[in-house]
Amino acid sequence: MGSGNAIRGSRVGAGPMGEAERGEAAPRVRVSFWCANMHETRPSFASDAAIPEHWDCPRCGLPAGQDEANPPAPPRNEPYKTHLAYVKERRSDKDGAQILAEALERLRSSSRPIY
Ligand SMILES: [Zn+2]
Repeated sequence: MGSGNAIRGSRVGAGPMGEAERGEAAPRVRVSFWCANMHETRPSFASDAAIPEHWDCPRCGLPAGQDEANPPAPPRNEPYKTHLAYVKERRSDKDGAQILAEALERLRSSSRPIY
C-alpha cells in the first residue's frame, strides 16, 4: 500500500458530479450540525474521515455543533445574544444585578488609571 501508488479508477480532483461514475467511492455519512440560530446543516463526510466538532453554518456563518440542544456560542458577541446567554447561565436576576453593581462600583472607585 504505497502512497505513491495511484488507485485504479480514482481521479484526483473529481468534483461532486464525478462521484457517481466512480463506483468505488468511499461510503459517506451525513452528520447534522446546528448553529446558535437553530439552522440545521447536514454535510456528508467520507465514512473514514474525521468528523469535525464544528461546522460553519452555510446560512449565517456561525459555528454549528452536533448537539442540537447546545450549539456553540457565536464567536462575535451580539448584545442581545450575550444577554440571553447570560440570563440562561445565571438563572438569577439578583446575581446579575449584583455583579453589575459591583462592576459599576469598581469602575467608579478606580478613577485613576492603573499602570
Ligand atoms: Zn445558522
